[in-house]
Amino acid sequence: MAREKVLVIGGGAAGMLASILLAERGFLVHVFEKNEKLGKKLFITGKGRCNLTNACETVEDLLQSVVSNPKFLYSAFYQCTNQQVMDFFEKLGVPLKVERGGRVFPRSDKSSDVIRALEQRMKKLRVSVHLDTRVKELVLKGQEGGIPGKRIQGIRLSNGTVVEGDRVLVAAGGRSYPTTGADDSGYLLAKEAGHEIVPPIPSLAPLLVREEYVRRLQGLSLRNIRFSVWDGKKCLYEEFGELLFTHHGISGPVVLSASAVIGRRLKEGTAKGLIDLKPALSEEQLDARILREFDKNPNKRLKNVIGSLYPSSLTPVIIELGGISPDQPVNKISREERRRLLGATKGFPMTIEGVAGFREAIVTKGGVSVREVDPSTMESKLVSGLYFIGEVLDVDALTGGYNLQIAWSTAWAAAHA
Ligand SMILES: Cc1cc2nc3c(=O)[nH]c(=O)nc-3n(C[C@H](O)[C@H](O)[C@H](O)COP(=O)(O)OP(=O)(O)OC[C@H]3O[C@@H](n4cnc5c(N)ncnc54)[C@H](O)[C@@H]3O)c2cc1C
Repeated sequence: MAREKVLVIGGGAAGMLASILLAERGFLVHVFEKNEKLGKKLFITGKGRCNLTNACETVEDLLQSVVSNPKFLYSAFYQCTNQQVMDFFEKLGVPLKVERGGRVFPRSDKSSDVIRALEQRMKKLRVSVHLDTRVKELVLKGQEGGIPGKRIQGIRLSNGTVVEGDRVLVAAGGRSYPTTGADDSGYLLAKEAGHEIVPPIPSLAPLLVREEYVRRLQGLSLRNIRFSVWDGKKCLYEEFGELLFTHHGISGPVVLSASAVIGRRLKEGTAKGLIDLKPALSEEQLDARILREFDKNPNKRLKNVIGSLYPSSLTPVIIELGGISPDQPVNKISREERRRLLGATKGFPMTIEGVAGFREAIVTKGGVSVREVDPSTMESKLVSGLYFIGEVLDVDALTGGYNLQIAWSTAWAAAHA
């Protein structure tokens, strides 16, 4: 009997793994990648070190870090757990290590080792790789009459060539980081097949802030702060950790995670961001601390007394927010003025206007609606033989290796369907 032929669109994380698993199961596999090499985005993951999964204890823990549609991933995560991913890569000859927060990296700290191991396995299994080859359209049975068919027949490349296949996996990724070649093409292919696309927006990206005084702090990095985002009195997000001021707003781990949670909400308007610069101290404790500084130096100017409490570039901004002259001697500072200093310290305010663009976003939120995809096989419910895996789907997670786990698990589920 002739071997079934599977066409994989996209040679990124999901496409490469799927091609290996399918070839191991005896399928004839072709991978079409529009870039000049495989795994271009994988190469830059984890700042070039590739945080390929998270060593959290249970599948439930994995699911908790998924922001969009965790329920859809339930079956895929159970079919291919983080442990299975780690075993797979160790067996492939990529020794791993676990770092802070359960982040798993290759022991060599080189994403290129992950890519090379996948490539070598693909070569050994005789997966046919077509580089610099863009897939332009899906060929569906019955399409000739203008009515999309119910079964996949193959693909059409941008040079017009039609390649026939029994099954097609769309592993075309999301829109973020266009420098890696990421674009809309996966969504367009899905749309052609009649699938609904949840509007893609940037996620795990810096936040844009309105206030000029925030931009003045560009380059300043804060550790051990609490960052929260508010819609009126409703807290949308709160996290403790590290934050960085940039040329157009804020970034850093707590901010990236916030963008994943509040991204869609920001489409409707602004939100209020607050930084608690001294989360370990209550307002009373902080007030007592400020008073101690004042008592030690009663005749000194404010700017010279409270400097010990903040990084140097932050001190003038805090004083400005308190509406006090920096040259005022501290023994002339009123209780109300002190209260305003406290307020700016426990709730450094900003207006969040949006999420930075796809150029800076680690993942894309949105994509092929999961309502029309079978969660245990990743097969389209509209076109048989058509599958969607990886970031092209409307699923996204927080940082920590979870997004690649999504790519591996969905690829696994499709390959074992
Ligand atoms: C800077 C950065 C750092 C990251 N770090 C991490 C990390 O450490 N850990 C983590 O878990 N996640 C990380 N991510 C996210 C992770 O890289 C993605 O979630 C993951 O790569 C998605 O895999 P994928 O296979 O679905 O898509 P991709 O890896 O993007 O692969 C899709 C491939 O399809 C190709 N393609 C698209 N359309 C076509 C077409 N029409 N024809 C042919 N080929 C096509 C593209 O060129 C691309 O190579 C990071 C992302 C970025 C941008």
